[in-house]
Amino acid sequence: MDFPSEWVVSGLELWQWYHQAKANALMVGIPINEVDWLLQEFAGLDLLTLRLESFKNKSNIQLRRSIVELVNIWYQRLNDRVPLQYLTGITYWRNFSLEVSPGVLIPRPETECLIDLVVVATNAVSNLRRGNWVDMGTGSGAIACGLAEVLTEASIYAVDCSPVALTIGKQNVMRLGFANRIHFYQGYWWQPLEHLQGQFSGMVANPPYIPSAMLSNLQPEVSKHEPHLALDGGADGLDCIKYLIETAPVYIVSGGVWLVEMMAGQEAAVAEMLQGHDSYHQVEIFPDLEGVSRFAMAYLR
Ligand code: GLN
Repeated sequence: MDFPSEWVVSGLELWQWYHQAKANALMVGIPINEVDWLLQEFAGLDLLTLRLESFKNKSNIQLRRSIVELVNIWYQRLNDRVPLQYLTGITYWRNFSLEVSPGVLIPRPETECLIDLVVVATNAVSNLRRGNWVDMGTGSGAIACGLAEVLTEASIYAVDCSPVALTIGKQNVMRLGFANRIHFYQGYWWQPLEHLQGQFSGMVANPPYIPSAMLSNLQPEVSKHEPHLALDGGADGLDCIKYLIETAPVYIVSGGVWLVEMMAGQEAAVAEMLQGHDSYHQVEIFPDLEGVSRFAMAYLR
């Protein structure tokens, strides 16, 4: 196949761009490894080749898109602080590559732990491995895919109120081959699942949990570009978590799992709400990979 000539650059040209881009990144405070990531995506160069800079001596390097696009993407990254994941349209989460766009939150590495917590819970209580599980506020579909991968006998429901998110989530699920096990519903939390009351083995969610007043203080990548619908948890950040505590007991079986991600510092309030509610027991808080209390799990009585 012939590639357009503007998609071919000399190693030297790319090397010069690489150094310039790293200098730009340092200057504006963007992690310099984003430049490596961009060239991995754009030029298919592996990390070792990039680190050793051995690509400098190649006469031709085939890009996957044009050099103009590369320069343009980097400009937007530096000047508008658009997250690189939105610019390349892709992010990596667990062992999946997921399509992302500004209509969905970029799945974070810490959120990967939710799936490991589900594995621990379902190893302890094996009948929870079957039945229905729901990813509430699925966004890109990341959690739903994680659930489908580890709970091979379960049916997964993925709910989001945003039609844009559902479109992206469905594409991810289809590409990853989970389409026959993940069912998408558009609507507000449990509302589209009313016909399945009392039929869920578990609920997993990364709901919006940032206090509204904090949103504008977040890094510009988040505050200017990620959907506030997926971030804004109301005055104390706990609106959605409270709502999910109140509403889940009607939907989850006795002995089933309630599991959410939250913000550092919310753990005492969330644990207290769960402990103060008759429907839950065995409330536990778990840390993320940095040791920050990040997840709350409870079982239904
Ligand atoms: N973890 C995201 C952040 O730090 C927030 C995700 C959420 O509100 N659920 O920006």
